This record gives sequence, structure tokens and C-alpha cells, in this order.
Amino acid sequence: MAPQSGNATTRSRLIVLAGPTAVGKGTVAAAVRETHPEVWISVSATTRAPRPGEENGVHYWFVSDEEFDAMVAKGDLLEWAVVHKAARYGTPRGPVDLALASGHPAMLEIDLQGARQVRETMPEALFVFLKPPSWDELVRRLVGRGTETETERERRLETARAELAAESEFDVTIVNHEVHAAADELVALMVGPVSTRSD
Ligand code: 5GP
Repeated sequence: MAPQSGNATTRSRLIVLAGPTAVGKGTVAAAVRETHPEVWISVSATTRAPRPGEENGVHYWFVSDEEFDAMVAKGDLLEWAVVHKAARYGTPRGPVDLALASGHPAMLEIDLQGARQVRETMPEALFVFLKPPSWDELVRRLVGRGTETETERERRLETARAELAAESEFDVTIVNHEVHAAADELVALMVGPVSTRSD
């Protein structure tokens, strides 16, 4: 993917945040929203079952296979993918268009396959890769959250290895050592100080 300079004239209003399982994409996105409520964050549709505490329309739109099929058939999804060989996830297109039209910075938090699709249709977006400090730390975070079975964990780690190898496809890498620091780096890409440089 083509690198972009960070100055105001080229700063993208659409950020695509990707990175391996359990790296903390959702937590970083939530931290961004806390300090910058003007940043609009897409709510994906998914066929996976809600985890305890997850709310429909907040964390995801939890839909049936039939509902997901209908969204795909109508062209309602900007991108979609089968993630971790387990469930389908997709970005509803309409809300993204509305957010961008309203002039607010917008963010998608999606997997590598989805990021590649958005790259084709919206190359002006800024593609950000969120990376764990180390492989061991990633495993520790995945085990620590305790939301997957052993088999699911292994599958997610298999995907994670492939995703980590794709870092060079992204415009910017942020290492998630600490959630607020990572969120600040992300915000700086969207709403950071305006540069007067012309390069
Ligand atoms: P989880 O099941 O842990 O919430 O998410 C699993 C994976 O699905 C994460 O890597 C997440 O980034 C990805 N994901 C969430 N929403 C979307 C989406 O709309 N499209 C794509 N392609 N991936 C998504």
C-alpha cells in the first residue's frame, strides 16, 4: 500500500484499523471514542453469537446467516469476510457513507481480508496496522480474555501469524504497548495538529 505523509492536506478522514486477534483493536477504538467522541466508528454485522456483555447495535449487529446473505445480495456491505473460519463479518456501507459525508473522521476496525477489499474500493483511506509488542504478549492477551475455547484459540493464532506477516501492506504501524498511548497515536493520524508543510 502506498505510504502517505501525515500532513493536513493528505490526511485521510477514513482510517482502516486492522491487526491480529486479541491485539486490542476494540479496546483502542473504545479509548479513541472516549477522548474524541466526534470520531465515528463503524459497527460491523456478524453471524457470530454475542459474548457476555456484548450488545446488539453497540458492539456488533448480530445477524442470522439469512440476514447476512441478504445484506451481501443487496450490496449493503462495503466489505465482508469469513474470519477465523468461524463466522462472517462485514461493514454496513450506508453508515460509512453518511459519516464521511458529515465530515467526521471515521474508523473501521476489521480484519486483513476486509482491509484488502477496502483498499480496492477506497484507496484514499489510511490503513493502520495494530501490532502486539511480541508474539508471547499476543498469546497472553488471547488466553487472558478467556472468551475462546482451546480449538478457537489455536485457529485465531494461526490467522494471527498470517496477519502479522502482512504488516508491510499497511501505511502505518502502531505497536499496542499500552491502550491509551496507542489510541493517542491513532487520534493523531485523524485529528492531529495541522501541519503547514507542503510535502
Ligand atoms: P471478534 O469475534 O473477536 O469480535 O472479531 C474477530 C475478528 O473479526 C477481528 O479480527 C475483527 O477485526 C474482525 N472484524 C470485525 N468486524 C469486521 C468487519 O466488519 N469486517 C471484517 N472483514 N472483519 C471484521
